[in-house]
Amino acid sequence: MNNKQIEIMSLSYEDILGYMSMWGEPDYRAKQLWDWLHSRQAFSFAEMTNLSKSLRDKLDTTFTLSSPILASEELSSDGTQKMLLSYPDGVSVECVGMPYKDRYTACLSTQAGCSLGCAFCATGNGGFTRNLTADEIVKQAKYVERASGVRLSSVVLMGQGEPFLNLENTLAAMKVLNDPSALNIGARHITVSTSGILPGIARLARIKEQFGLAISLHSAVQETRNMLMPGVKKYALPHLYEALQAYTEATKRRPTYEYLMINGVNDTNAELDALIDFCANTLCHVNLIPLNPVSHSGFAPSKGDTIRRFQKALKASGVETTVRRSRGKDIDAACGQLHQRSC
Ligand code: SAH
Ligand code: SF4
Repeated sequence: MNNKQIEIMSLSYEDILGYMSMWGEPDYRAKQLWDWLHSRQAFSFAEMTNLSKSLRDKLDTTFTLSSPILASEELSSDGTQKMLLSYPDGVSVECVGMPYKDRYTACLSTQAGCSLGCAFCATGNGGFTRNLTADEIVKQAKYVERASGVRLSSVVLMGQGEPFLNLENTLAAMKVLNDPSALNIGARHITVSTSGILPGIARLARIKEQFGLAISLHSAVQETRNMLMPGVKKYALPHLYEALQAYTEATKRRPTYEYLMINGVNDTNAELDALIDFCANTLCHVNLIPLNPVSHSGFAPSKGDTIRRFQKALKASGVETTVRRSRGKDIDAACGQLHQRSC
């Protein structure tokens, strides 16, 4: 059998130690190799410059080191870059790079597709395919860095998928993104967004790193939220509220509440009152986001006046609020516009 067919990313640490000892290499080589593979997310053995040339050659003839293929790349007029990565099993996911004045942010996917089927979201509309591994999540950040030529200053896990339905892999990826010997992105600059999966929020509250949390709230009225986000019906708003108070109590961190503004759906006075009730006197920051058009939904964004009225009323109630500008709309790279496509 041709050993070259062994995929090195599928080996355990013990397997790698075994190869090193078989080849007469010291044990610390296994650690170095492991770091290149799982922290630094190397694209090739040639990059692993602290290994001898002869060891790199031996690795190259024995193993494959497969990376996803960059199936397509698009550049928006505002500088946003969208990449479609395709994995050997045919699954493909999108990740996005967004330049700002003072930083460069990557938006990464945690699942291929999503099982939650939110009514306004292109990802949810395509259904769920599979969880991404921690390596697959981190590698997207490497691709964004490579495509932009800029070091990432922040990461948001707001691409395709529900991170807290792929909890272990997502947390492992966040740790690697934060690791000084890997991507070295400050924990405060790594934000995970959830539709409100309570066990994930509780778990994040117990983690020592100061990762950021965003909640896709979209309505503080149960009936409206059930219609917009049927997949999280079982996590009712009063329980979400409790989980968030426990989170802020434990971490002293301010979660962001994402609130899509959808014309005639969640932008009425009754919705505004419910939102103020949910937020007032708690630690939070509300982002009002005009809906991005997604063809299947039939929803339209709220009028500018309505959005400004929401912002004013929330601020008057002491709730920190901003209106968020979307990036990359012209290439369907904006929030909720990431599709699942086969290549
Ligand atoms: N599943 C997670 C993370 C990915 S979704 C979550 O829902 O939080 C990333 C963000 O895009 C969420 O805040 C989501 O509500 C938002 N989004 C989805 N569809 C959108 C649309 N059509 N316009 C604007 N934002 C949208
Ligand atoms: Fe899934 Fe988030 Fe889209 Fe809802 S908004 S379908 S949870 S990716």
